[in-house]
Amino acid sequence: MSAKILDGEAFAGRIHRETSARVEKLKAQGVIPGLVFIRVGEDPASRAYVSRKEKQAQEVGIASRTRVLPEPTPLDSLLKEIDALNADPKVHGILIQSPLPSALPNDLVYARVAPAKDVDGFHPLNFGKLLLGDPTGFLPCTPAGILEILRLGEIPTAGKHAVVVGRGQIVGRPLALLLARKSPGADCTVTLAHSRTAQLPEITRQADILVGALGRPLFLKKEHVKPGATVIDVGVNRLSDPANPRGYRLVGDVDFESIKSVAGAITPNPGGVGPMTIALLLSNTVRAAEDLSR
Ligand code: NAP
Repeated sequence: MSAKILDGEAFAGRIHRETSARVEKLKAQGVIPGLVFIRVGEDPASRAYVSRKEKQAQEVGIASRTRVLPEPTPLDSLLKEIDALNADPKVHGILIQSPLPSALPNDLVYARVAPAKDVDGFHPLNFGKLLLGDPTGFLPCTPAGILEILRLGEIPTAGKHAVVVGRGQIVGRPLALLLARKSPGADCTVTLAHSRTAQLPEITRQADILVGALGRPLFLKKEHVKPGATVIDVGVNRLSDPANPRGYRLVGDVDFESIKSVAGAITPNPGGVGPMTIALLLSNTVRAAEDLSR
């Protein structure tokens, strides 16, 4: 039996249509939602990510633009840019593209974004609200997108054992908290695994919902998966491939080919979590515009 494919592109399309309709409503009230990306330096992957997000934002009617700063940029100049965007009433969402150059302190930079414009959900206030279950905060886009994949894919969560592999700040840790929340679409029993976890395959084989968010190419294989489990692949990794003109290909953390005959449901990669991350970013931006124009 082959696993059900959790088609992130199709789910994202549904969310984009809802987002476009909300944009139309705002425009009828004279508000054009505005989203600004800040990119520091010319990292090719960051350039590609930002231009994809900017294009999709425009497609749903959000006024989006990118501010590119050279590398090196002094911390003071970057903070001044953020302050100006915080004060600009036409800007409702601000996204600082990661990774930032190592000379810049991530924590200080992300904490400078006004929490009401922090559509990436990285500000400590929004992270605290997530922890407290306060719905007025912005949820980080990738974990929120994964919850939407489970909801739209009609995967039951209440009482299920979710194993999240990877405790990173952007995905694994917030996702574990969200899955454990007392709320519809969550209510899981959660295990958060990491590089020091002993006997990982024994643990992952207990999962009804298994999430790979560790950044290790094709790491999770058949032996990690309980038959019938739902498997979500977050990873975006470069795997050396001399036959490819770029010299590498992008792969996830999950060995899709090895797992698809065992899992009950699985996200493709690409086409799973990635498009949902963008869909949630745009939906957060429109919510920021709705909140700020009230
Ligand atoms: P991260 O901050 O580097 O965290 C990686 C986590 O994986 C760490 O907790 C690490 O454990 C754990 N880990 C590493 N090797 C392991 C192993 N062999 N066994 C078990 N756990 C292991 O990474 P991240 O930012 O969360 O990103 C994770 C992946 O998701 C990356 O491939 C990234 O590109 C991708 N990503 C995708 C999207 C999307 O939209 N699709 C968005 C964000 C990130 P320790 O804590 O013990 O070091």
